[in-house]
Amino acid sequence: MKTNHLFLAAMILAAGTALAQSPAVSQGIAAQDTTSQPQEPPAIKSFDTSAMDLTADPCTDFYQYACGNWRKNNPIPSDQVRWARSFSVLRERNRYLLWKDLDAAAKNPADALEKQYGDFYAACMDTATVEKLGFAPVKAIWAQIDGLTDASGLAALLAELSNEGTPDGFFRFGVEQDEKDSSQQIAQIGQGGISLPDRDYYIVDSKRFQTIRTEYVEHIKKMFVLAGDTPDEAAKEAAAAMEIETAMANAETSRTDLRNPEKRYHIYEVADFDKLAPLFDWNGYFKQVGIGHFDTLNVATPLYFSELNKLIASEPLSSWKSYLRWQSMHGLAQDLPQAFYDENFAFFGRTLAGQQEPEARWKQCTSMTDRALGEAVGQEWVKENFPPAAKSSMDQLVAELEKALGEDIGQLPWMSEETKKAAEQKLAMYRNKIGYPEHWRDYSSIKVSRNDLIGNVQHSATYERNYRFAKLGKPVDEKEWGMTPPTVNAYYNPSFNDINFPAGILQPPFFDPNIDPAVNFGGIGVVIGHEMTHGFDDEGSKYDGNGNLHEWQTADDRKAFTERTECVADEYSGFEAAPAKGDTPAQHLNGHLTLGENTADNGGLRIAFMALEDALKQKGQIVDEKIDGFTEAQRYFIGFAQVWCENSTDASARQSALTDPHSPGRWRVNGSVQNFDEFGIAFACKKGTPMYPVSSCRVW
Ligand SMILES: [Zn+2]
Repeated sequence: MKTNHLFLAAMILAAGTALAQSPAVSQGIAAQDTTSQPQEPPAIKSFDTSAMDLTADPCTDFYQYACGNWRKNNPIPSDQVRWARSFSVLRERNRYLLWKDLDAAAKNPADALEKQYGDFYAACMDTATVEKLGFAPVKAIWAQIDGLTDASGLAALLAELSNEGTPDGFFRFGVEQDEKDSSQQIAQIGQGGISLPDRDYYIVDSKRFQTIRTEYVEHIKKMFVLAGDTPDEAAKEAAAAMEIETAMANAETSRTDLRNPEKRYHIYEVADFDKLAPLFDWNGYFKQVGIGHFDTLNVATPLYFSELNKLIASEPLSSWKSYLRWQSMHGLAQDLPQAFYDENFAFFGRTLAGQQEPEARWKQCTSMTDRALGEAVGQEWVKENFPPAAKSSMDQLVAELEKALGEDIGQLPWMSEETKKAAEQKLAMYRNKIGYPEHWRDYSSIKVSRNDLIGNVQHSATYERNYRFAKLGKPVDEKEWGMTPPTVNAYYNPSFNDINFPAGILQPPFFDPNIDPAVNFGGIGVVIGHEMTHGFDDEGSKYDGNGNLHEWQTADDRKAFTERTECVADEYSGFEAAPAKGDTPAQHLNGHLTLGENTADNGGLRIAFMALEDALKQKGQIVDEKIDGFTEAQRYFIGFAQVWCENSTDASARQSALTDPHSPGRWRVNGSVQNFDEFGIAFACKKGTPMYPVSSCRVW
């Protein structure tokens, strides 16, 4: 599944098409946490006039108008780097409700399932045992690394580490659907092996990145000293690890290029792949990790592997050992004693992202258990928090949005009749998944112990890897989910051609059975429209209804399409993600990295509005009633904007501009409304104002 499985999605496939970035930026586990007792966060208002800044002019800066007071009154909590009215607050709430289940299961499990996730959670909370075990779990891994006598042994060592669930860097290897024949599941390999958020951090020659690189090396050094190195040894090891990571970063394909499916599709015979990087024993590796036989595989990033080969030839054995020692220690840093944890947080949380303090341990342990055993603990959560009525309302909304997108395609001014037919065919083949899986995954083979946090993490990693390996050559499971039920997010998967809405997002402020339709269409309606439009963005449009990379537009239509997406890319490249600060210049958005998401935002806003108009007409409610002093159309746009009210640290905004395919809230709102004339009409803006410009971009 290419959209969000952390394994391949994040590195090879450039983060895919989720609605929002998963909140992986919050770092760490506070080992000591006596102050914050879990408390139920309040439910969120779907439409909140007190969030608005009515002194602002909606035609000049709609984001300020809809969110100004909320942003002023809701500074970023000290344990976060980004705080959003909908996503963050709802995520906190869902996590609290999940914690209640975990806490109860840890204390008094009702059955084997509850015992497993209760123990997993309890082991994470047991900081006394974590302190007692100390650095011993990593020492054991280092003993394996020390046994390496020759670079020709790298493959066997990496296979051994992988089999044990130990982070090893180097590359990402797994099984995915064949991009050109989605019925086939094939082996796939791609770049991986750096620890900073993006290759730019290693490569870009600016003062800011030079400083970050210096601090990163200093951080690696401190970690090695904590592990027992002398300062001199630590400095040497840090320099070696940094040299290898920098070479890997130089060989990497950019995130923006990886969004192009053709640029990540290179089928190789195993023998030819072997020739690409002959110094690594690929056949031995594939055999030892137990994936089963295959003759061909997709090499997402061939250049990376030929460069890796050069690196194996040029780097001394001692440097590889330092690199692997660093990777294994770094990968487990959050599960180690307090001193390691603190140093890891100081760099990755505070320095890189501007986070002031770590999240409470119960929060981190809840998230960790959800990641490892989400379809076990999610079963209870769904029973308690997802009423059947919500599912049937969603079925109806999705049908209404599908109809609106069909009408939108029919009315497109730039597309030929022939291509319109093909687009409608693709739309008719969409599949919808709502709430939670029909069949839950079976985690019973994961060995979980109540006093072995790192062991549990490793067993879970191996299980996850083997779960993917087992797909090789098997039929595709169309019912599989890529997000756990309490997740506040949604996604489109181009190979499945399906849209997915976990139970976690199907509640206020996105979806509220007690509010007027305009607000629901502005909330969950736009989310549905956003995911549907992904099937037709610059990436998704290259796949047909069967989920195969296959051109269905005529050459002229593809040309017109690209002109239109380029208009959106140029527009968003002009938006600032972070203003100039001291001698650090302003950071602009990358219009091509965010193109798919921006296209989906623009399309979603348009088709949800069309669906709202249809729904109101059907009920005979064409008369515009005002509620709270706003017309239905105004409430639609305000409801939409209030999903995206957020504050973010400067460091986090800059990091996201390089790594997140989603634009920040301000531009998700202002960028979308200025491309949709209905907005200017709804707020009686003068043509030529910033939110109602004379010319704008439109794809769908
Ligand atoms: Zn999206």
